[in-house]
Amino acid sequence: MKALALYSGGLDSLLAIQLIRNQGVDVTALFIDIGFNGLGVREEKLRAALAPTGADFQIVDTREQFIKDILFSPRYGYGSAMNPCIDCHGNMFRVAAELMQPLGASFLISGEVMAQRPMSQKKAALQSVLKLSGHADLIVRPLSARILPPSLPEREGWINRDLLEGISGRSRSRQMQLAEQFGLTGYDTPAGGCLLTNQTYAVKLKETVEHGETEVEDFGALILGRHFRLPGGSRLVVSRDEQESKEILSRKFSRYTVLHPVGFPGPSALISANASDGDLRLSVSILLSYARQAPREGGIVSVGGLEQMAKPDITKADASMYLVNKD
Ligand code: SF4
Repeated sequence: MKALALYSGGLDSLLAIQLIRNQGVDVTALFIDIGFNGLGVREEKLRAALAPTGADFQIVDTREQFIKDILFSPRYGYGSAMNPCIDCHGNMFRVAAELMQPLGASFLISGEVMAQRPMSQKKAALQSVLKLSGHADLIVRPLSARILPPSLPEREGWINRDLLEGISGRSRSRQMQLAEQFGLTGYDTPAGGCLLTNQTYAVKLKETVEHGETEVEDFGALILGRHFRLPGGSRLVVSRDEQESKEILSRKFSRYTVLHPVGFPGPSALISANASDGDLRLSVSILLSYARQAPREGGIVSVGGLEQMAKPDITKADASMYLVNKD
C-alpha cells in the first residue's frame, strides 16, 4: 500500500506522513511548488526534515498552472492577503491525484488540522477542499481523521483509523508531543513563508498584474528588492542587500535586463527587458543614487553586459516618487 502526501516542510505534514508510515504504508512526499516560496524551494532542507520518516521525496512544479488556473480566479476567494488557500489546497490534491497511478499510490494524505487556520482549515473549508480535489473519498487527514468522516482507505482497512489522531483547534501541544515522540526536527514554521500571505507582497503583486506582468518570472522578481514603476511603464527592481544582489546576479532572466555597478560597491538591479531608452537612463541613475560609494563624477554601470558611464543625476528622495511601495 502506498500513499502520496502533500508535503510543505512544516511539522503537520511531517506528522501526517509519520502516522501513515507507522502503519507500514509507503509514502512519497510531494512538495507542490506554486512559485511563491520566498527565495525558492529549499530542497536540501525539505529532504533533511523528511529523512527520519523514510518517505520518498519529489518536487512537482505547478507554477504556471497555478498562476493560470487558480491565483486570479479562486472560487473560494482570498485569505488576509492574496492567498487563495482553499482553492490552492484543492488544486494541490488534484495535482497529486494525477500522480497516483504513475507512482503506484492508492490514496492521498495531508497535514491539515481541523480549525487550525482561519481560512483553509475550518470544517466547511476542509469540505470545500475535498470537493475541489475531485477525489474526496481518497483523502486522509491523519492529524484530524478521528473527528472527520471515515475515508475509503479507513473504511476498507488499508489503514487503521484508531491509530490516527483527532486533533482540532489552534493549540500545537499535541503536535509538539508527537514531534518529540517521533524524533522529528528541522521542520519549517507553520505556513512556511508562502509569500501570498504577505500583505506587502500582495501590494506588489497587484501592481504588477495591473501592468500585464503575469509570467512566473515576473512574480519571482517580486521577491527581490525595492520596486519602482518608471514613467515609460517599465519595472525597476533594486537590491536591498548583498544577498539580493547575489540573487539578481546568479539567476537567469529573460524578461529583465540586469544592471550592476562596475569597480565600486553598490546594489544590482533588474529593469524590464523592453524598457524605453528614457527608462533605461533613469534606472541607471536610480541605481547610482542607491550606491553610497558611487564616484561623484559618475561611475561605470553594466547594463545587460554592456558597460556605460553614468552620472547620479537623481537623488534617492526624488527616485522615491517612482516606488511601488515603501517597504
Ligand atoms: S499558504 Fe500559500 S501555499 Fe499554502 S495553501 Fe495558502 S496559498 Fe497555498
